[in-house]
Amino acid sequence: MKNVGHMDELKAQETIFLQTLLSRHHDPLLLTWCTCGKNNRKMGCSNCLDSEMLCRQCWLDKHCMMPPHWALIWNATDKFFEKSNFCHVRKNTVIGLGHHGQLCRDAELRRTFTSVHSNGVHAITLAFCRCPTADGQCSTPEFQQLLHAGIFPGSIKEPKTGYTLGVLEYYCQLRSQGKGSAYNFVHVLRRMADPFFMGSVLDIYINFIVVTRFHQHLDIILKRSYAHMPDDALPGEVECPYPNRLIGYLGLQCAACPERGVNMPLIFNVPNYLRHLVSQHFTLDGSFKTNLFFKRDDSSDTALTDGKMYFPLQKEFDAIAKSYAIPDEDKGIAPTLLYLVSSQEDHAFLSKIIHSVGDYYPLWQLVYQTTVFLSRSSISIGIPPISARLLPLLAIL
Ligand SMILES: [Zn+2]
Ligand SMILES: [Zn+2]
Ligand SMILES: [Zn+2]
Repeated sequence: MKNVGHMDELKAQETIFLQTLLSRHHDPLLLTWCTCGKNNRKMGCSNCLDSEMLCRQCWLDKHCMMPPHWALIWNATDKFFEKSNFCHVRKNTVIGLGHHGQLCRDAELRRTFTSVHSNGVHAITLAFCRCPTADGQCSTPEFQQLLHAGIFPGSIKEPKTGYTLGVLEYYCQLRSQGKGSAYNFVHVLRRMADPFFMGSVLDIYINFIVVTRFHQHLDIILKRSYAHMPDDALPGEVECPYPNRLIGYLGLQCAACPERGVNMPLIFNVPNYLRHLVSQHFTLDGSFKTNLFFKRDDSSDTALTDGKMYFPLQKEFDAIAKSYAIPDEDKGIAPTLLYLVSSQEDHAFLSKIIHSVGDYYPLWQLVYQTTVFLSRSSISIGIPPISARLLPLLAIL
């Protein structure tokens, strides 16, 4: 009922909503003198709140540290506001790095650059700082300058693409909370830049999937405070903060999750018959084995967590993989569970439902789901629990 009332309230103001939204496509200050007194106001901003109409130069000055804002330039011929990149507001506009939005005195190279923000993909021109560094280098590496400015570089050598830290964080949340795919996200970003001619916007997908994976890896290290080397002893202390924790621990830090030697004692002295009260179980799932044989991996898909947390050292893994003899039945591309298709003579019933190896999977699923359903339903229909004495009988099943 409450929702209906809310909607009625909104609907009653529909005309005002429409008129106000439409009024944002014009401005009474348009083509009047700008506050600088030098030019006419013909620029609005689609991202600033309650933005003021300005002349081109004043708009650029105001946005030198907000270049991802989309400029709205008045098109006098067709009488509408045209969406434009920061660098297209005025010819030869360049975004300078290293000097808070101003151009470096020694900047020589100007590079066309694809900058990706949550409001779309922007084609801009960048000028890197060429000031010598304190340690005597001729200038800070370009990828580092980008990172310092809040743009995650798409590559190291002569980067031509970069992502604002905001868009990477946005994608990270979208992926974990909304289960969105990278492909669709890139699609959205291109549409945000140009909803009508998406093809004119550069496709960044290949670069994006590598960069976001690396960014996520760094994000985990930072959020787990691993950038501060917690495996080393703190100054003035003999031991590292958690001496009993795995080296390279990158798991979620939870005060409530029992961890031996961290938030519970390392050794327990309990009588044998009470041992079950103090136990920890680990489950490692390695059943993807068959599907991984002979799989053609993406060459960029290399381990980033070498020897950390639950992952083995790549060197050790390679040595085991090299010495491991693959049994004949595992060679070739196999389905998850490999059984021969039964003939009419061997298994009259099975041969009626299994016509190819692919039919085994739905069958296992059906058996599994039915068992789960029956075992759970037994509680609702009031079957009493089996007595502890008879538990071993279940093993027969
Ligand atoms: Zn703005
Ligand atoms: Zn002005
Ligand atoms: Zn400089």
